[in-house]
Amino acid sequence: MSRARIDTSLAEASRMLTASPTPRLDAELLLAHVLDRPRSYFFTWPETLLTREQLAQFAKLIDQRKAGRPIAYLTGQREFWSLQLKVTEATLIPRPDTELLVELALGLTADPEYQNTLSKIRVADLGTGTGAIALALARERPDWAVTAIDKSPDALAVAADNAVINNIRNTVFVEGSWCSPLAGGSMDMIVSNPPYICSNDPHLKEGDVRYEPLSALVSGVDGLDDIRRIAEQSLPCLRPGGWLLLEHGYNQGRPVWTILSRAGFTHIHTETDLAGHDRVTLARKPAT
Ligand code: GLN
Repeated sequence: MSRARIDTSLAEASRMLTASPTPRLDAELLLAHVLDRPRSYFFTWPETLLTREQLAQFAKLIDQRKAGRPIAYLTGQREFWSLQLKVTEATLIPRPDTELLVELALGLTADPEYQNTLSKIRVADLGTGTGAIALALARERPDWAVTAIDKSPDALAVAADNAVINNIRNTVFVEGSWCSPLAGGSMDMIVSNPPYICSNDPHLKEGDVRYEPLSALVSGVDGLDDIRRIAEQSLPCLRPGGWLLLEHGYNQGRPVWTILSRAGFTHIHTETDLAGHDRVTLARKPAT
């Protein structure tokens, strides 16, 4: 980068990011991070000169982005729902797809039948990562008691930081594998975006996922190992009539339905994401 004006630096950086589908946006997000300013600043002050340090830091980030490192790991943050979340390489980067699961969970409890049976709703998020799902639910429903579980202490520390950053108090963070920390019959709802990619999926060699923790992505040869475990473990931890909501792959609606049905769930149905793909399956523990 030869010139240090904002507009020319951005133009030059975007030209370097040939492998990215969104080179200009990437460059703007990285410069916004370096300057600690919103992107709108660039349109208001395009001729502002960058300092030598800012330029060096920007060039370093552009090099890393060129090598494929995800923007969220370079800036250390990602927006999800209405939350600004800290993200590290110990956590999956929250995806917009997962907001469907949050919407469905919120919608379930609008059902008057569900409301009548409940006092304080107790929800567990299994494999919470950054805390994205747990904290979005906790933010929307301050009267719920949310338990965020992860087996990775590093991920759990990030999730707990995210509660503080977003000033959310109705969530507790517990280390453990899936339902192991939960008492029998204790939950009104269990939600999870577990790993669900097949271990030989060629997409694992492309894009952001190359840098994400494999344990947060991959789950056996058919991608369903963890969903089988969660289905089995969740039933005894739910109260009668309680719900399980699982995110899964676009082609996993049917096998997930079968797993949940065999585990003893009823009212099983799959919802599609904005692209029209199967994305979240809901299932209920029999009421009696
Ligand atoms: N629950 C987190 C999310 O949806 C992490 C999911 C995971 O690591 N598989 O972003």
